[in-house]
Amino acid sequence: MNYRCAHRWTFTKWGGALNETSDELAPPAGAEVTVRVTHCGMCHSDLHIQAGGFDMGGGKLSSLERAGTALPVTMGHEIGGEVVEVGPEAQGVKVGDRVIVYPWLGCGRCPTCERGDEHLCVRAMRNLGMQLPGGYADLVRVPHAKYLVPIGTLDPARAATFACAGITAYGAITKLDPMEADDFVAVIGCGGVGMTAVALLSATRKAKVVAIDPDPAKREAALAYGAALAFDPGAPDAARTIGKACAMNIAGAVDFVGSESSSALGVNLVRRTGQVVIVGLFGGELRMPLPLFPLKSLRLTGSYVAGLNELRELVALAQRVALPQTPIELRPMAGVNQALGDLAQGRVVGRVVLQP
Ligand SMILES: [Zn+2]
Ligand SMILES: [Zn+2]
Repeated sequence: MNYRCAHRWTFTKWGGALNETSDELAPPAGAEVTVRVTHCGMCHSDLHIQAGGFDMGGGKLSSLERAGTALPVTMGHEIGGEVVEVGPEAQGVKVGDRVIVYPWLGCGRCPTCERGDEHLCVRAMRNLGMQLPGGYADLVRVPHAKYLVPIGTLDPARAATFACAGITAYGAITKLDPMEADDFVAVIGCGGVGMTAVALLSATRKAKVVAIDPDPAKREAALAYGAALAFDPGAPDAARTIGKACAMNIAGAVDFVGSESSSALGVNLVRRTGQVVIVGLFGGELRMPLPLFPLKSLRLTGSYVAGLNELRELVALAQRVALPQTPIELRPMAGVNQALGDLAQGRVVGRVVLQP
């Protein structure tokens, strides 16, 4: 039996710093696969995972420990790398393949998991980078070969970020109904994920995209990625101005902010039978007149990452369509604590991708 030595950056108490540790990794059994990590994106959620929970508003904090995440934790859920070992039953991959890893694993056996929506499993979560050791390591054990997506000639650093940031944008826009050429779809919040949604919508939908962001540079960039119109949500009477410019025909709004004001704007903007998809986790409460739901036949949907099939579709799409080249900053994984600190302080532009 050939054991490998895996080096991981883990924390052993909630809120604590990450330390380099090592352990022996047994050869993969069944359909398991070992991936040598070459890139691992650092996500804003990592700050919440490290802290042990999410702020749910009103002073309430969710607890990852109560939800089944046990210490020590090796974070990192945007994993890209190379297959180095395959279990005897692993199919469709071979040693040397360049892949990204789908990290949002459920029980793997329930009907939800079997249709590919493991991220919505109600039985058990086994996310890589939370319940299972993630990509802040040089080696990752993936429980089944089916979670690997080959990336072909895509830039591995950028492709790694598809596993969370990318499919969050993709999963949100796939919730929208088909639209016609005179329909409009609003994208509220044009940071990295929102901008990806602007590009994906412009490339794949007939409807015209209206980008909404307070930052003029982001509005400018959204127009370059295919948005037909762009507006500042802080301008006086913004909702009315935007509605008029879109001939009162906004069929859907995707809210990548998820704040009280952004969700209210989305609900106000959409026409009758419109859809509002809330993605952002800024927080707060939705307050709106309830009669709007029946009177507008309004649909309000949440969207959280996406399934394995969506990740495969996104990789295929990225090979055909120019997606936003949001800045990527490569950093050594040994500097992970510094990088997390910079992320927490807002000193990171674009995305940090760590390399072991
Ligand atoms: Zn993430
Ligand atoms: Zn399941």
